[in-house]
Amino acid sequence: MPIRRPTHSLANRPGHQCKSDRVRAMRNTGRWQKVRKIQLERSPLCSCGAPAAHAHHVKPLSDHPELCYSMANLQSLCAACHERHHTEHATDNTRETR
Ligand SMILES: [Zn+2]
Ligand SMILES: [Zn+2]
Repeated sequence: MPIRRPTHSLANRPGHQCKSDRVRAMRNTGRWQKVRKIQLERSPLCSCGAPAAHAHHVKPLSDHPELCYSMANLQSLCAACHERHHTEHATDNTRETR
């Protein structure tokens, strides 16, 4: 597998945080804010019935960065379910939020 060098400043950061840094950077883009808003407007409720507060990525961005803005990969979750989801599925490097 060829190693793709990040061309931006994140390459200078120590450690192995590039994935989560990339995810964090993505979340600050206007494009993400827009996709997230559309998702929450389309599905304003969490599967538990509470008002959704998060557009959660079903397939984690750390594994599927190409699905970042894919509506098909989004799921509306309330804060509690989102937290639980990430707690249950988190293995040290696959978290997309927190
Ligand atoms: Zn999430
Ligand atoms: Zn919920």
